[in-house]
Amino acid sequence: MKLSPKVSIIGCGNVGIRYAYSMIIKGAVRELVLVDYNRNKAEGEAMDLSHGAPFVSPVNIYAGDYKDTANSDLVVIAAGRGQKQGETRIDLIKGNAEILKGVVPEVVKYSPKAIILVATNPVDILSYITYKISGKPSAEVIGSGTVLDSARFRYLIGRHCNIDSRSIHASIFGEHGDSEFPAWSKAMVGGILFKDFCKVCGREGCDCCSKSKEDARLEEIFEDVRDSAYKIIEKKGETSYGIGLALTRISNAILRDENSILPVSSFLQNYHGVSDVYLSVPAIVHKYGIRQTLEIDFDDTELAAFESSAKKIKEVIRASGF
Ligand code: NAD
Repeated sequence: MKLSPKVSIIGCGNVGIRYAYSMIIKGAVRELVLVDYNRNKAEGEAMDLSHGAPFVSPVNIYAGDYKDTANSDLVVIAAGRGQKQGETRIDLIKGNAEILKGVVPEVVKYSPKAIILVATNPVDILSYITYKISGKPSAEVIGSGTVLDSARFRYLIGRHCNIDSRSIHASIFGEHGDSEFPAWSKAMVGGILFKDFCKVCGREGCDCCSKSKEDARLEEIFEDVRDSAYKIIEKKGETSYGIGLALTRISNAILRDENSILPVSSFLQNYHGVSDVYLSVPAIVHKYGIRQTLEIDFDDTELAAFESSAKKIKEVIRASGF
């Protein structure tokens, strides 16, 4: 008999396993199925994770094939290659799209009602391809999008202002990749617009209170966000802890029917005039996937960046034949 919630992970490499670990630590899953092309790897990871049983909430973890994923509530796809040093996420399209062409029909065959959460890069394009291959309603296919990038953004703003990042409400939108952009006009620190925060921050000698320094500092914060993955990959070869936690945050929004607003990669229909593409915008996430995307009142710079991100992703989708 199925235990609930049941989650299956397809692709148990760095990302899949950090996600599994974080889900277990948070007590967010009751039955967890690990599927990997390399069965030995999945079996070893299942054993290793299971040995933490006495320290966490009850959870049944096992390696399996697609048959074992039957009736999952949520399937997370993290199968496929990551970036090597010097590669962009878009460079991964060919090989990873081929992998998903094999994975998605199997997922849908055994769990037709599951929400599918895609993490494999390039995530916006592969979410679109997953949606097309799966035949599922777009609401049930979600990309992890810029949830991780927004977490990096909140962390860096928090560090700059010396404020807990949980008190920062700020998002990165658009592509999870080089054309992403920060919504500075909507960034808030404890309910105060970020642009007004200097007036009240009360810190002596803060280096951003003059206009010229502030602009440079903001640009630096955004560049740090956008280039984070490149820097981490240069130093340790992969990124996985941040995305593992970001996927857990999205999973909880789904499995607990939270109606949380998250910058996940969502199918857009006439969003500021943009249609038929997956990109990150604020979306309400609940047990049926995406309840609704929210059209945000971007300023002129943000709107231009959003349109340019959409144009870029659509061109890659067209070139990929979908
Ligand atoms: P990895 O190489 O460590 O793991 C990939 C796993 O997928 C391997 O265990 C491999 O055996 C498995 N696999 C390959 N083909 C498969 C198939 N057909 N069926 C089942 N399993 C298969 O890579 P990683 O570091 O875990 O990265 C995985 C993906 O996640 C990459 O595309 C990476 O770019 C992406 N990623 C996304 C984000 C994000 O924010 N969305 C962040 C980091 C990494």
